[in-house]
Amino acid sequence: MANTPIFNNSYHRQLPGFYTDLAPTPLSGARLLYHNSELARELALDNSLFTDPHSAVWSGEQLLPGMQPLAQVYSGHQFGVWAGQLGDGRGILLGEQQLADGRTVDWHLKGAGKTPYSRMGDGRAVLRSVVREFLASEALHHLGIGTTRALTIVTSDEPVWREKPESGAMLLRVADSHVRFGHFEHFYYRREPEKVRQLADYVISRHWPQLTGRADAYGLWLTDVVERTARTIAQWQAVGFAHGVMNTDNMSILGVTIDYGPYGFLDAYRPGYICNHTDYQGRYAFDNQPAVALWNLHRLAQSLSGLMPVADLEQALNRYEPALMHAYGEEMRAKLGFTTRDKQDNDILIGLLGLMEKEGSDYSQVFRRLSDTETANPHSPLRDDMKDLAGFDHWYQQYRRRLQGEGMDDDTRRQAMRAKNPKFILRNYLAQQAIDGAEQNDTAFLHRLLQALRRPFDDAPGLDDLAALPPEWGRHLEISCSS
Ligand code: AMP
Ligand code: MG
Repeated sequence: MANTPIFNNSYHRQLPGFYTDLAPTPLSGARLLYHNSELARELALDNSLFTDPHSAVWSGEQLLPGMQPLAQVYSGHQFGVWAGQLGDGRGILLGEQQLADGRTVDWHLKGAGKTPYSRMGDGRAVLRSVVREFLASEALHHLGIGTTRALTIVTSDEPVWREKPESGAMLLRVADSHVRFGHFEHFYYRREPEKVRQLADYVISRHWPQLTGRADAYGLWLTDVVERTARTIAQWQAVGFAHGVMNTDNMSILGVTIDYGPYGFLDAYRPGYICNHTDYQGRYAFDNQPAVALWNLHRLAQSLSGLMPVADLEQALNRYEPALMHAYGEEMRAKLGFTTRDKQDNDILIGLLGLMEKEGSDYSQVFRRLSDTETANPHSPLRDDMKDLAGFDHWYQQYRRRLQGEGMDDDTRRQAMRAKNPKFILRNYLAQQAIDGAEQNDTAFLHRLLQALRRPFDDAPGLDDLAALPPEWGRHLEISCSS
């Protein structure tokens, strides 16, 4: 290969006792179904990596020079209950690629076979879930939301049993870190405070180097984790994304989105939307995400209680609500087309959400269409879809007056609102069509869908069908936890 990536494995080198050395177990008849050439370019990867069968790193058959594969150990709270040791049950951290700008990125192969942490699982992933994770991470990234990314989708001839036999598959995931809240919980609950400290020092030196050596480093670090998490959650809420399994082992220490399972984007606006049909209590319902992230941050803070006084933990946690409210406010004001702040903004937002809920309106489409508002025109194109005309007119009058107060011309505002309100959303029915195709070795739909998701704010005439609301069959797809 012309341009071989360099691997510099700090986790392996600096944290013995935090993992098990282990190579991937390949799948039979594995083949590359898709590779992310855009991300490959960002990582300065040579195309031969995806064409040369002798460098089949994406199927676990080969390791690149310098890789030191391992399975990480971690624990976590699942659905609010301490679950004990979990760990990489089917993922292998292959190594950390050293980039020219000094950053290192983890290469993690998901579905790479059994590990000492597999518990009852088979160590595998199915094509359905690999396609879903790939699509979602591309979608969120291009909506400007922090997330892990993915380089490749591999399918195989190996059947993997879920509710029925499915195709065994692998996802080559790339992330700045795979450290989760659950890593810290693991060593805290095992009463190994020196390991909690060692891990914190590692994470700080790798991702917050500016804090290294400061007496108040731990407090500043936790504060930043809290604020980053708050901002990501605010972005999820603004775009209508429900993660579905916000266990503490699925919370990145970098505050980015990780471990996509039965996630969902809102179609019709339903604040209590539960995307995971095994979440009977609705713990991870759309509108519960802000509260549950804070609960998770409390579990993290507890694990770090040996590193700083309780007052510092509390001070960091107290940043959550203001950071979330600030970020959410900014997001929603931009979606509504406001460039200034006004005390009626919250009323306007709540009024609109209330109407949408009552009318069953599509969350993303309403905002997109709101960008066509003409401030001089008392008639909104949205009106025709409303049943409660009096309610809508009342709200619209207030909204239009608020826009008039901004004094911006319609065209400029329309551009700004369109850049904030996506036309293309990864609706479940679209993901399902990409999966159906992939299972038949047909990636045409996947390609088209990715094209739309990578420019979610742009009109793309050839892709208009992908902006359509779900058909009847696609409205109530049940997404289970099994992946
Ligand atoms: P998740 O909810 O998918 O993030 O997974 C929770 C835990 O279960 C993690 O420790 C995973 O590694 C593990 N796990 C999930 N699926 C499997 C599987 N098929 N085989 C082994 N471990 C698994
Ligand atoms: Mg997980």
